[in-house]
Amino acid sequence: MPMLSRTDLRGHVPSPAHLRATMPRAEVDVDAVLHQVRPIVDAVRDRGVPAVLEFAEKFDRIRPGSVRVPADRLAQALADLDPRVREALEESIARARKVHADQRRTDKTTEVVPGGTVTERWVPVGRVGLYAPGGLAVYPSSVVMNVVPAQTAGVGSLVVCSPPQAEHGGLPHPTILAACALLDVEEVWAVGGAQAIALLAYGGVDTDGAELEAVDLVTGPGNIYMTAAKRLLRGLLGIDAEAGPTEIAILADDTADPAHVAADLISQAEHDTLAASVLVTDSERLADAVDIELRKQVGATKHSARVAEALAGRQSGCILVSTVDDGLRVVDAYAAEHLEIQTADARAVAARVRNAGAVFVGAYAPVSLGDYCAGSNHVLPTGGCARHSSGLSVQTFLRGIHVIDYTEDALRDVADKVVALANAEDLPAHGQAVTARFKDA
Ligand code: NAD
Repeated sequence: MPMLSRTDLRGHVPSPAHLRATMPRAEVDVDAVLHQVRPIVDAVRDRGVPAVLEFAEKFDRIRPGSVRVPADRLAQALADLDPRVREALEESIARARKVHADQRRTDKTTEVVPGGTVTERWVPVGRVGLYAPGGLAVYPSSVVMNVVPAQTAGVGSLVVCSPPQAEHGGLPHPTILAACALLDVEEVWAVGGAQAIALLAYGGVDTDGAELEAVDLVTGPGNIYMTAAKRLLRGLLGIDAEAGPTEIAILADDTADPAHVAADLISQAEHDTLAASVLVTDSERLADAVDIELRKQVGATKHSARVAEALAGRQSGCILVSTVDDGLRVVDAYAAEHLEIQTADARAVAARVRNAGAVFVGAYAPVSLGDYCAGSNHVLPTGGCARHSSGLSVQTFLRGIHVIDYTEDALRDVADKVVALANAEDLPAHGQAVTARFKDA
């Protein structure tokens, strides 16, 4: 029995719709926990911070003294940070800032007719809440990936939320706090899960009387409860996406190194027992060699039980195809969060990919590089959403506002067209709003 279950599509690649329906993928039923999450959201709306503290006691096994983390605790966490981790975070931040700076948008004015212009003005979201998970693991890298695009977009006010940790006296994990300090984030709240999203949506008053101001947009990954709260509160809040379990697809041919392919599949499986690791290859020899490597490497890795469960899950597997071209059709249908191309002429193959959250090209661009230090963003669409959505970027934190500026002559020139369309829609008052301006003439 191979470690990765095999699907043989050699000779026949089904339609994209059929592939999407049958390919390995985790199923996370967010709807199934809505009935658990709705009372949490309602309690925070109705009772604010006291309800938040009760949920912390219940789910995080600690009741923090206050929600807002005192400024001196941020500075202290940075002072206590392992210098090697500090150096690595600084490198990660510098590279992410470099890439995200190039995503800035400039306002653009189009002269539609003489005297008639439309300007698209890019305006940052006023206040955002960034969620850094902290249940099973802590992700200071997610702080970087959320804060950098928000700051680069020019968001004026941002708050980071992360669950209180029992081992750290009810504060978020110190590495999260240190990352916030490195990024000059001053406002951090010790709150996790659904109650964090509800507090971000409704605001509240902290135990010391300080106001926790509601935000306009919330971004960041989290578990199923946090995601369910995003679903419930969408509309009152903007959200980035409902992130599902993480995924890697690797399109590889006979030239790929099986030890590297196995290591990359394992690195993704390390996140979560629901994480998906999918190999798509036209080489049965490579599939066999990867399997041998998986057997060797899984036992030796720290989180081997979690990894083995993720690799054995229905969401992971190996798909055999006849050619790399067929493999491209398969990975395009799958639309992975992370897609590695490990083939001969990987750049040319990568250039043909249509659907993926991020593409990692060739032997020296593993997903782990993108997780931390490539400069790219690691908050990416999961569950096939890469077919229609992008990862987090500066654009996530901007709104394009159309500014319409027409002179009297420019309006007069087009008045009859507006009237004709208004009448065609049986909305004559729309036309009259134009003709009223030219009555005297
Ligand atoms: P989390 O911070 O999302 O969730 C912890 C919170 O869940 C706790 O504070 C608690 O309030 C709440 N909770 C726990 N049990 C509950 C229950 N029974 N009912 C209601 N609420 C409950 O941390 P996590 O659990 O470690 O999940 C993080 C997720 O984010 C993982 O799935 C991970 O893979 C994902 N992630 C994704 C990315 C990405 O970029 N896509 C990056 C980092 C993490």
